[in-house]
Amino acid sequence: MVLPEFEYKKANSIAEAVALYKGYKGKAKYLAGGTDLVPLVKLRLSAPKAVIDLKGIKELKTISRGDGWLSIGANVTLFDLKNDPAIKGYFPALYESLDATSCETLQMRGTIGGNILQDTRCLEYNQSLQWRTARGFCFKMGGKTCNVVQGAKACFANYCSDNAPALITLSAQAKLAGPKGARTVKLENLFTGDGKKPLALEEGEMLVQIQIPLKKTKGAYEKLRIRDSMDYPLVGVAVSVAGTKARACIGGVGLVPRVYDLKNVNDAAVREAAEKAYAEAKPVANATLTPAYRKKMVGVLLKRAFNKALQEGK
Ligand SMILES: Cc1cc2nc3c(=O)[nH]c(=O)nc-3n(C[C@H](O)[C@H](O)[C@H](O)COP(=O)(O)OP(=O)(O)OC[C@H]3O[C@@H](n4cnc5c(N)ncnc54)[C@H](O)[C@@H]3O)c2cc1C
Ligand code: SF4
Repeated sequence: MVLPEFEYKKANSIAEAVALYKGYKGKAKYLAGGTDLVPLVKLRLSAPKAVIDLKGIKELKTISRGDGWLSIGANVTLFDLKNDPAIKGYFPALYESLDATSCETLQMRGTIGGNILQDTRCLEYNQSLQWRTARGFCFKMGGKTCNVVQGAKACFANYCSDNAPALITLSAQAKLAGPKGARTVKLENLFTGDGKKPLALEEGEMLVQIQIPLKKTKGAYEKLRIRDSMDYPLVGVAVSVAGTKARACIGGVGLVPRVYDLKNVNDAAVREAAEKAYAEAKPVANATLTPAYRKKMVGVLLKRAFNKALQEGK
């Protein structure tokens, strides 16, 4: 499929990127590895007048430690992050989610920032313009219906980042910069639950860094997918345990990663969290496995991830 025409701009600093964006009055897109954006542009699901390449910005590519945090630049590739010794040593849930993301070729191109900011997905959405025109435009494309759930009032597309759930279990925060200045938000607050605009970013706002409290954790990531060699999650469950406390996060089902905090990790608390996560998961028929199976696997994978995480160090 051929790309449409757009202007290509390369920024060398955050300030330059934001200034370039402002010049295009909302009609530009930031570009990191391009593995999410370029297919969307090819499918005419995104039509930027310009793309602003962030790959020349050095400070977006560093990983540093200080003041009790690990700070990861948004443009660090998934592969480089996976191979940083701090990740395997401190954050096993994140190591496993990075390792489970697509394949190593994609990990070498795709960045952690682009991974978190990827668009939501649906079998009725990620299609060519001709296919979608024949079917009729749904809510997410500016239409008046959902093509998956008859009579629905909102979109049920799936947020498929493997790594955002793992980062959320680690209480990560996102450092942002944009035309209105800088701010830092908890990663779980970056999601709106609105299919048309799933991410709570202001116009022209960039993700600069992900910051994780630098404390050792136990953890695991369990992923349901069709092809183990390379596939998006149909359900992704991350768990991280620090002392007696634990956090689980479910991705791949619906617009927003769902968080479950356990004050005291024991068999009963894990069973309760699995039952709650199962009850609250509402998959619909917009991915390659049935909703009933995906729903069941939410509870199964949550228990499996805890079993694995708690085995560590025994
Ligand atoms: C075949 C295939 C398989 C895939 N499998 C998986 C998978 O298993 N798991 C998974 O999680 N993902 C998967 N992906 C999705 C995607 O490739 C990865 O999530 C990747 O990490 C995206 O990173 P990127 O740097 O390429 O993002 P890009 O495509 O460059 O950017 C993604 C979005 O984020 C915006 N953006 C990027 N950086 C910034 C920034 N710093 N500030 C503000 N906005 C920014 C862009 O404008 C764009 O909207 C897959 C993609 C493909 C093509
Ligand atoms: S869930 Fe419905 S509204 Fe959302 S992308 Fe799919 S068809 Fe469109």
